[in-house]
Amino acid sequence: MSAIMKLDGIGMKYQSPQDEITALENITFEVEKGEFISIVGPSGCGKSTLLSVMAGLLPDYSGSVEICGKKVAETAAEIGYMLQSDQLFQWRSVWQNVLLGLEIRRMKTAENMEYAKKLLKTYGLYEFSDKRPSELSGGMRQRAALIRTLAVRPEILLLDEAFSALDYQTRLAVCEDIYSIIKQEQKTAVLVTHDISEAISMSDRVIVLTKRPATVRSIHKISFDLDVRSPMACRETAQFRVYFNDIWRELDVHV
Ligand code: ADP
Ligand code: MG
Repeated sequence: MSAIMKLDGIGMKYQSPQDEITALENITFEVEKGEFISIVGPSGCGKSTLLSVMAGLLPDYSGSVEICGKKVAETAAEIGYMLQSDQLFQWRSVWQNVLLGLEIRRMKTAENMEYAKKLLKTYGLYEFSDKRPSELSGGMRQRAALIRTLAVRPEILLLDEAFSALDYQTRLAVCEDIYSIIKQEQKTAVLVTHDISEAISMSDRVIVLTKRPATVRSIHKISFDLDVRSPMACRETAQFRVYFNDIWRELDVHV
C-alpha cells in the first residue's frame, strides 16, 4: 500500500477582531490508498476544521497537505466532500441532484452521465430518479448524496458527521449501506465523527484527537477476526468492546 494523503505538521488558527483561536496544532499522519480512517475527538476540538483543511477549503493553515502527490489546493477533483445534512436540492429531482456535481465541475459528458446512471441502478435508486428528495427516506437521501459525490469519481471521500442527523436505527442501516458502497467502489475514506462505535465499526484505523487545539492523541489500528467484514458484524465481536473502552478512556470528555 502507498500513502494517498500526507498531512505534515498541520496547524490552523482562526482570527477574529478580538482574539485568535488555535484549532489545530502539529497534526501529522498518512492515509493509505483504499483505507477507511475515522477521526474522533471531543466536540469543538477541531475535527471539521481538519477535514476542511484536507478538502482545500481553508487556505490559511500551516504545515503541508499532499493528496495524490499534489498540494491540496490543486486537488479539488480528487476529493468528494459529504456533510451531515444531505445537501440535496428540494426543487431538483434525484437525477438532477446526482448530476449537480458533474455540472459544477463541467464534467457532464455522456460517459459520466452513464456512470451516474449505473451508480443509481447498482445502489437501488434508479427507479426513484424522477422523485424529489422529500419523497425519499432519510437513508435513501444519504445514499443519493453519496452517489452524487461518487459521480465525479473522486479518489478520496471526506465525510463530516455524515450520519449524525439520522435516527439511531436508520444510522445503523445507512452505515452498512455506505460502507459497502465505498468498499465496492474501492474508495479511500476519512470520516469525522463524535460516535466511537461508528468509527470502530467502519474503520481500518481510528485517530483520536485531543481537546482544542486538536493534536493527535493516539492512532488505533482496528481489525476483526471476520471472514466478511461489515459494520454490524464488527459491533457484535468481543474485540469491538475492547477497542471501544480503550478509545473512550482516551477522549478528553470526562470531567
Ligand atoms: P468540531 O468539528 O470538532 O466540533 P470545529 O472544527 O468545528 O470543531 O471547531 C473548532 C474550534 O474552532 C471551535 O472552538 C470553533 O468555535 C472554532 N471555529 C470553527 N470555525 C470557525 C470560524 N469560521 N471562525 C472562528 N472560529 C471557528
Ligand atoms: Mg464538526
